[in-house]
Amino acid sequence: MRGLAKGSLDLPFCLSVMVHSGMGIKLLVEQGNDSQKKQYLNAALAGTCLIGIANTEETGGTDIKSIRSKLEVASPDEAYGHLSVHKNCASNVSDSDLIMASVWKLVGDAKPLMEIMLLDRSMITQTPLNDSLLGFRTGQTGSLASKDLSVAIRDIQLGPDLTGYSMLKFMFNLDRLWVGAMVAGVLEGVFELAVSHIKERSSFGKPLAEYQYIQQKLVDIYTAHITLWGIIHKIVHSGDAHGPSSSDLGAFSDELSVLKISAIDDGLKACLSFFELFGCQSYMSKSLPAKLLQDILAFKFLGGSKEQQKILLFDSLCAKYAV
Ligand SMILES: Cc1cc2nc3c(=O)[nH]c(=O)nc-3n(C[C@H](O)[C@H](O)[C@H](O)COP(=O)(O)OP(=O)(O)OC[C@H]3O[C@@H](n4cnc5c(N)ncnc54)[C@H](O)[C@@H]3O)c2cc1C
Repeated sequence: MRGLAKGSLDLPFCLSVMVHSGMGIKLLVEQGNDSQKKQYLNAALAGTCLIGIANTEETGGTDIKSIRSKLEVASPDEAYGHLSVHKNCASNVSDSDLIMASVWKLVGDAKPLMEIMLLDRSMITQTPLNDSLLGFRTGQTGSLASKDLSVAIRDIQLGPDLTGYSMLKFMFNLDRLWVGAMVAGVLEGVFELAVSHIKERSSFGKPLAEYQYIQQKLVDIYTAHITLWGIIHKIVHSGDAHGPSSSDLGAFSDELSVLKISAIDDGLKACLSFFELFGCQSYMSKSLPAKLLQDILAFKFLGGSKEQQKILLFDSLCAKYAV
């Protein structure tokens, strides 16, 4: 991710790759049954089957309890069910071939189970949202819907019963790690561009680099980048030589919250400094500094909003220190 972000300087593009391969393919490999893998895995690896992950509900994003999408099954021995899904703001959606969507599985009168369903593009209607979302002009974001569709449960459920919630936690943790890595990688690339710019460009007879005001902006970018790598390093270099497995990430929930908060707060400050270093010639859609600012603002919400991270962190610290 570091190289991808540094080379592309494009957060939405990196997010698209992360959703498809970092999460989608990983979940398919770990939880898919043989026939699901046979149908999608090779195509997903080849990039001809684009995966989207849809958890955010039309009726509410931050509050996962507000999920209304459901698979209704008449009784435990029934092989078919009725699926109704309404999701919003999902990366890669609008042109996904396979979507992993969280739904409540309602079997007879039993307690509802949160499970993940594999939806083939033929089962749903996808609508692009790019024009109405902040940022994200180089990634696809969309909504999807399907109503009262008759489905074979074995074909579409990812993993056995009672695995959906742990997959959601896995996605939440991985999202926070990747968001930090994407912002850190982009800032690393941005720093190099900023250094050449202030050395080459002059104002009032001397290079921009000689003005203290300009130097401060470069320091902002560097500081954010080093801070983020420091937190990522702490997480990924813990334990044995391979670092934590994705299922161990839950033990780093506090660090992941700090990483996400820092990626947004320090990252936003760094992107603003980069924007100020370059100045602004017009409302150009191709201006990299302007695009970065817009894209990092959207990252505030993705993978658990910044506010949500603060709530989580505060609750965890209260529990740890018996406040
Ligand atoms: C570019 C982009 C890509 C995305 N990709 C995906 C994807 O691939 N899959 C997917 O499922 N979702 C995706 N999302 C959706 C994202 O997860 C949601 O935007 C997020 O969960 C927030 O939900 P919301 O936008 O409905 O905001 P809301 O939940 O309506 O919240 C609005 C604001 O209120 C704040 N807020 C909410 N509750 C509280 C509270 N209790 N206390 C304090 N503040 C609160 C929030 O922090 C936020 O700032 C994406 C979003 C964006 C912007």
